[in-house]
Amino acid sequence: MLYSMQDLQRGLEGHDLVLPSGVKGVWGRGEVMEDIIRRFNDLVSRETKDDGAQELQYPPVLARSLIEKLGYLDNFPQLAGSVHSFFGKDAEAREIARKAREGEDWEAMLQPTDVMLAPAACYAVYPNFSGMLPGKGRLISVTGWVFRHEPSDEPTRLQSFRMREFIRMGAQEEVVAWRDTWLERGMELLKRLGLDAKSDVASDPFFGRTGKMMAAQQVEQRLKFEILVPVISHEAPTAVCSFNWHQDHFSGKFGIRTAGGETAHTACLGFGLERVAIALINTHGFDPAQWPADVRKQLWP
Ligand code: ATP
Ligand code: ZN
Repeated sequence: MLYSMQDLQRGLEGHDLVLPSGVKGVWGRGEVMEDIIRRFNDLVSRETKDDGAQELQYPPVLARSLIEKLGYLDNFPQLAGSVHSFFGKDAEAREIARKAREGEDWEAMLQPTDVMLAPAACYAVYPNFSGMLPGKGRLISVTGWVFRHEPSDEPTRLQSFRMREFIRMGAQEEVVAWRDTWLERGMELLKRLGLDAKSDVASDPFFGRTGKMMAAQQVEQRLKFEILVPVISHEAPTAVCSFNWHQDHFSGKFGIRTAGGETAHTACLGFGLERVAIALINTHGFDPAQWPADVRKQLWP
């Protein structure tokens, strides 16, 4: 049984799991919600402790120049978030404050800074690994806040949320094998938590008419897979984890090479942490103390 979208939203708020902000897709995390998120992320860490991932931490903003270099605006301008600030002198400062107080348009007085909000946790990583990879490539782990401008009433579609990502860089065969293994592993992990997970090929929400073609190509080349769990509905289950094989898209731009000197391949996988938490809540109920013992044992060992 799934809660309806309204009951889910009401239940999340009624149990202080989420603290609304008045903006769609932006909410605070209550103590219990944050505990679920942290426990799941810790479980992922325990499961992968022997994988040899290098764990890095980045801020939720990226260099504006990196967004440009990645071609993000070619593909997803509708999702982008830019950080602007005030660069004026005293008179303009008084003016912008007055406009804000009196409900006039003050944003036009801001100018872009050097940073944009990170739309994916892994983007910061690639430019740091230009040059030759070690013999077996690299495995990186990051957990980061991301922003996507997709305001929605669905409790699972946020504007600001966290992703736990792993990023693999290496020779093509290694990277594809890693992705395939993880698809199994991710399914197994989520099923063990009682989630009704299935996987499917997927595509990104590329912008506009050319975007439709890019999405079709992505499916055809099987570059993106998702693990889906019914949350809002059984017919359109929600992606809780995505697997992306970028081929040489990032490695080409940043000169990431294998030990053999060829352009490397990269792939990443990302668990949407809030989505996993909401999928668990929708499956097992609003009070984690009442969740099945075998699920609790894994998250609260
Ligand atoms: P969707 O198809 O649902 O828009 P996506 O395929 O664009 O998601 P990715 O870009 O691959 O998602 O992001 C990795 C993971 O981040 C997803 O599997 C999902 O769990 C989570 N995620 C993506 N968008 C959102 C969002 N707006 N709110 C909450 N979690 C999200
Ligand atoms: Zn990624």
